[in-house]
Amino acid sequence: MIPEFEEDALAEAGFDTLAVRAGHHRTNEGEHSEPMFLTSSFAYRNAAQAAARFGGTEPGNIYSRFTNPTVRIFEDRLAALEGGERCIATSSGMAAILAVCLAFLKAGDHVVCSRSVFGTTNVLFDKYMKKFGVDTTFVSLTDLGEWEAALRPTTRLFFLETPSNPVCEVADVAALAELAHRHDILLAVDNCFCTPALQQPLKLGADLIIHSATKYLDGQGRALGGAVVGNAKLMEEVLGVVRTCGPSLSAFNAWLFLKGLETLRLRMEAHSASALALARWLEAQPQVEKVNYAGLESHPQHALAARQQRAFGGVLSVVVKGGREGAWAFIDATRIMSITANLGDTKTTITHPATTTHGRVSPEAKALAGISEGLIRIAVGLEERDDLIADCERGLAAVALLSP
Ligand SMILES: *Cc1c(COP(=O)(O)O)cnc(C)c1O
Repeated sequence: MIPEFEEDALAEAGFDTLAVRAGHHRTNEGEHSEPMFLTSSFAYRNAAQAAARFGGTEPGNIYSRFTNPTVRIFEDRLAALEGGERCIATSSGMAAILAVCLAFLKAGDHVVCSRSVFGTTNVLFDKYMKKFGVDTTFVSLTDLGEWEAALRPTTRLFFLETPSNPVCEVADVAALAELAHRHDILLAVDNCFCTPALQQPLKLGADLIIHSATKYLDGQGRALGGAVVGNAKLMEEVLGVVRTCGPSLSAFNAWLFLKGLETLRLRMEAHSASALALARWLEAQPQVEKVNYAGLESHPQHALAARQQRAFGGVLSVVVKGGREGAWAFIDATRIMSITANLGDTKTTITHPATTTHGRVSPEAKALAGISEGLIRIAVGLEERDDLIADCERGLAAVALLSP
């Protein structure tokens, strides 16, 4: 049992306190760290209690596809950090997006989605949702006029990521929320890149927050998971989908993410500081054509990002000379960075989006989203900054050999 004074104090607590303490109601064992409930089902005192639980007249656990106490701690803590009423955890970030689609869309509905989204998100809308009669229009993340022009009487959902993956564009969330609500449309924001440590989109007017917990919430590249955050009414719909369709989060993964949340802000600040240093260094190099990072004064939405976010995040992308050949030479010459598509890890990762994460996106869509052959994404980890710069020096030396 959590002492009552602690529960009261948490109602007023700041971000760092919530990140460490929110959601855990100590059991009679008095455990100090969050307990892991590795159980698929829950037992009842008698048949009448079982009937009451199943009938919904008595609250409580039934089966871990519906609710699990460890998952619940993670959900309550993430909801507190986002400033939302409730969170529903899912088995992956994509499962979170699918759960939102199944909860709020039906055949005949229309979605407006940013062109600059995670490659698989694009496929989910463009291929799978289309199969069920939901049409999606893809628009520029930063051009409000395109969102407005795409509206139809059947539009139900706006979907975006900010900053976007991999070109780091920044959306004006408040302006898009205003447009969405004028037309009775839900605004979903994938907050994977910033996390609530750097940006709280619900406070800017968004209705639904999507997370891939796989990324910074875990922060150490260990497990897959996701979450949706929003008001209690909307989350009841999402819970209905998760408990029926089954993309539930495992208790073990929830426990890992809880440990990740405790250090989230410290990590996000460290990732952001190193990414800014690396972006500034890269921008000054002759083999670099362009650096995409909202922390740079050269970024077109730098002022908006500075208003909307507490820092600029850990992901940057860079266009090197020599197209695909140049990008691959850079990637292959690095010795510390890991060549992998994951991000939000303590270990820096380097990716060629055009042939990996966005490989299934059509060439036209890639061109519109700014994913050129020379583009490299770097998700900056927590290694020594000078070691990462030395790795980029090796990469750029290889580019220089191709096109001196
Ligand atoms: C990785 C990612 C997802 C998908 O998350 P999974 O946990 O891999 O399913 C969604 N959105 C963004 C921005 C991502 O980076």
